[in-house]
Amino acid sequence: QLELKNLVKTFSDGSDEVVAVDTVNMSLNDGEFLVLVGPSGCGKSTTLRMVAGLETVTEGDILIGNESVIGSEPRDRDIAMVFQNYALYPHMTAKENMSFGLKMTTDLDTETIEQRVTETAEMMGIKDLLNDQPKELSGGQQQRVALGRAIVRDPAVFLMDEPLSNLDAKLRTKMRTELKRLQNELDVTTIYVTHDQTEAMTMGDRIAILDDGVLQQVGTPLECYHRPANRFVAGFIGSPS
Ligand code: ATP
Ligand code: MG
Repeated sequence: QLELKNLVKTFSDGSDEVVAVDTVNMSLNDGEFLVLVGPSGCGKSTTLRMVAGLETVTEGDILIGNESVIGSEPRDRDIAMVFQNYALYPHMTAKENMSFGLKMTTDLDTETIEQRVTETAEMMGIKDLLNDQPKELSGGQQQRVALGRAIVRDPAVFLMDEPLSNLDAKLRTKMRTELKRLQNELDVTTIYVTHDQTEAMTMGDRIAILDDGVLQQVGTPLECYHRPANRFVAGFIGSPS
């Protein structure tokens, strides 16, 4: 369903060249929730941004449903992405935020769009907030709208880059459970980036551990915990040595 093949990203920084993502190979099953973890600067966001089409690919290929998406525009990829800072359109209501993408990228009629937005809002528990603008909403509510705006498009692939890290601990725990339930219901193939070990261990069908652009291990939380591929993974996952 989603396949990363020998994916490489280099940035040139004056005379220096930074290899941000170094020959990453990864294959996600349909409906799988994969958590991508690793230290700051290891290339997590760059990987997601390449999948979303927000960053060019230096080398390698990205396949969705066996078709390469290299060269296609972000809006033409069957992908939705949610960032750490919700990035809602400030001058639009929650409802407009959620409808906008559908209006721009599909030829669905207004009535169908309205119905899908309402259903999604119900699922996200934000039905009463649909006419509010982002500035009238709390951080948690804004993040729900951002998640709603992403899933209303019913994408084949859902990318999340630390979507809960701006929330307080209590709300984060609650949203973690809700997100997981939602992803199960929607059965959408997901890459979820986090710094949070607990999120990785509890949410991931599998975990992918990245260090310095290089994939160290991909496995179930239990596999990575009990059979770490190397010292780095052992240290990172916190397995007893
Ligand atoms: P964090 O956990 O802090 O968000 P990350 O794993 O998401 O980190 P990336 O943002 O993917 O890391 O960055 C990977 C590497 O690529 C870093 O060394 C970073 O400095 C470099 N990098 C990222 N974007 C650019 C850019 N636009 N130009 C130059 N270098 C970049
Ligand atoms: Mg990042």
